[in-house]
Amino acid sequence: MNAPLFERVALIGLGLIGSSIAWAAKRRGLAGEIVGHARSAETRAKAAELGFCDRVCETAAEAATGADLVILCVPIGVCGAVAAEISAVLKPGAIVSDVGSVKASLIADVAPHIPEGVHFVPAHPIAGTEHSGPESGFAELFDDRWCILTPLAGASAGPVDRLQAFWEGLGAKIDRMDPEHHDLVLAVTSHVPHVIAYTMVGVADHLRRVTDSEVIKFSAAGFRDFTRIAASDPTMWRDVFLNNREATLDILGRFTEELFMLQRAIRMGDGDYLQDYFTHTREIRRGIIEAGQDTPAPDFGRRGPARPDREE
Ligand code: NAP
Repeated sequence: MNAPLFERVALIGLGLIGSSIAWAAKRRGLAGEIVGHARSAETRAKAAELGFCDRVCETAAEAATGADLVILCVPIGVCGAVAAEISAVLKPGAIVSDVGSVKASLIADVAPHIPEGVHFVPAHPIAGTEHSGPESGFAELFDDRWCILTPLAGASAGPVDRLQAFWEGLGAKIDRMDPEHHDLVLAVTSHVPHVIAYTMVGVADHLRRVTDSEVIKFSAAGFRDFTRIAASDPTMWRDVFLNNREATLDILGRFTEELFMLQRAIRMGDGDYLQDYFTHTREIRRGIIEAGQDTPAPDFGRRGPARPDREE
């Protein structure tokens, strides 16, 4: 095993992402010591029992004290408050990072609390499942998944490269983007698809006469996939939409226009339009498989519960 990249890593938030980082860092010996903190005594006790942290602390400040790398693994909406809480104890030269699914507003919330001499390097692993909590994490979550770094303008190269090496050690592939571009890309690939899934499941739920029986009984792959996505953590997704409002609304507007065109083609019986459209979308699916971001295996809901998915 190589020498650790960081002597002490502090994880604030010990849910799916925090616990997966801990397991993956342990797998490769990336940290001399992993300390963690979560808001509730229940999660702290569960984390201590599962053993993915060397030490579990009562407060975020206690966990961050003396850490070389602090990663905020909490919902986007509380990152600013947590950064304020740990600001005074951050070690000079330390790196503060996060895993938030939205970047621009998170940076605006966190950056003002980062003291001089501490490096803030935002990051977002594009890996997740619909499960949450300390028991849902696993060491392979980030293997061959992308992690996007969104360094601030003028950031020193050294800390950004060190965080990149850490994420590579966790198993991820790295790309770098500016925060606004990240938020637009993720609106297309993740955030709007979640709105659509939530909506579709909501529509089925409104059809009360079928919900109780047929929708469950005859649940086909299309609807089942929507229900899986719509089972994602409500707090996380509330915060995603509150914090990536503009890009989400922009893409939703485009989605609505396309939907009207498809609706019209269906109404007019325009088979050529539908055929061309679906042929093109099938090519996009092939591209995703060729890029190694999914497998061509048919999925009839037979895979295990902790299946890593693109997200988020
Ligand atoms: P999660 O499983 O619900 O875990 C959230 C953790 O944050 C819990 O340990 C929770 O503690 C803790 N927490 C909440 N508020 C806190 C506070 N004020 N102070 C300290 N701890 C607090 O969520 P997750 O899926 O790991 O998501 C965490 C972050 O990862 C989010 O920012 C999300 O955008 C990002 N992300 C998620 C995914 C995904 O697929 N889930 C993928 C990529 C990135 P308690 O358990 O005690 O409440």
